Amino acid sequence: GAWEKQVRHSSTPRRPNGISVLVTGAAGFIGAHCSLALKKRGDGVLGLDNFNSYYDPSLKRARQALLAKHQVKTADTIFIVEGDLNDGPLLTKLFDVVPFTHVLHLAAQAGVRYAMQNPQSYVASNIAGFVNLLEVAKAMNPQPSIVWASSSSVYGLNTENPFSESHRTDQPASLYAATKKAGEEIAHTYNHIYGLSLTGLRFFTVYGPWGRPDMAYFFFTKDILQGKQIDVYQTQDNKEVARDFTYIDDVVKGCLGALDTAEKSTGSGGRKRGPAQLRLYNLGNTSPVPVGRLVSILEGLLNTKAKKHVIKMPRNGDVPFTHANVSLAYRDFGYKPTTDLATGLRKFVKWYAGYYGIKPTAKKEITLATAGSDDD
Ligand code: NAD
Repeated sequence: GAWEKQVRHSSTPRRPNGISVLVTGAAGFIGAHCSLALKKRGDGVLGLDNFNSYYDPSLKRARQALLAKHQVKTADTIFIVEGDLNDGPLLTKLFDVVPFTHVLHLAAQAGVRYAMQNPQSYVASNIAGFVNLLEVAKAMNPQPSIVWASSSSVYGLNTENPFSESHRTDQPASLYAATKKAGEEIAHTYNHIYGLSLTGLRFFTVYGPWGRPDMAYFFFTKDILQGKQIDVYQTQDNKEVARDFTYIDDVVKGCLGALDTAEKSTGSGGRKRGPAQLRLYNLGNTSPVPVGRLVSILEGLLNTKAKKHVIKMPRNGDVPFTHANVSLAYRDFGYKPTTDLATGLRKFVKWYAGYYGIKPTAKKEITLATAGSDDD
């Protein structure tokens, strides 16, 4: 295809004696950030994304443009191949053009509530698509190390607090969670039978600049600015719903750390090959915040009062709280979240105002009062 010529002429995906990473879901929120970070530290990067319209595809195109712009010299941009995980011949071709040492597999159908409207899209991307990728990877020689996105949602209705990797994950509360859990089981099998090196990362509510419009912090910002009412959920026993909001830069560090650890375990890059491992890690912030507090931080940053509508949590796949214990990730690759919610949201709101061109108007002054001068 057209991509092949461009990729063959680009120096970015290949690093002769180093690391080349295939990033699936590279036009997505976490994928775009990780691609940039990998490129910045000198790794080879090639993206894959199907640019589906689960949320505004123009945001995915804008992330793609951001990656394309980020070049040090000509023919050195980050390229995203447009294609689907379920296209086996395409995946094989990608490995043929670039012998990837690693895969950072972030492409998935995300979102908890949409699973009730379109269950098949979760099965297609998160189960069939993942299997397709593993089938291609297992046939490579040498095999790439795979780091993939699982989710805190696998803990489901687990109530042991905070969540540790050893806790029960047998009560998924949504089909999304069930497909992420299935991904973990499938990974175990591919590790066991084919010796693939697999590392699953259970992300906890990741937020930040270039984030996902379907997530609460994002559409709360939009609705507060537009004077629209926002729904704030409570549990059936009147407790506030709380999330372990994790800032994107912390998650990116975790992803890169996991990739480096995976490399060591398989001995790619010249090291001795040990038994390939299946590992699972929480990547969270270790301090859950009630949604009401999220709203009040946004009110402060936007200098606008929210119209809150407090309602009881329906059985829509949401869980009452999430809270990560990250000591395993800290032990194995030094993962340590450093951004609190107020700091991270300030950066998000600053990006949001810039991206959507929100300028102070006579009618309503949007003073991003505390936005400061971060260069994010
Ligand atoms: P995202 O939707 O922004 O990114 C996913 C990208 O994958 C999208 O650009 C989409 O177009 C692409 N994609 C989806 N299905 C595909 C397919 N079949 N073939 C090719 N491309 C496909 O989501 P994100 O927030 O960046 O999440 C990245 C990963 O992390 C996902 O696996 C998600 O389930 C997981 N995760 C995210 C969070 C979070 O809070 N953001 C929390 C837990 C887990």
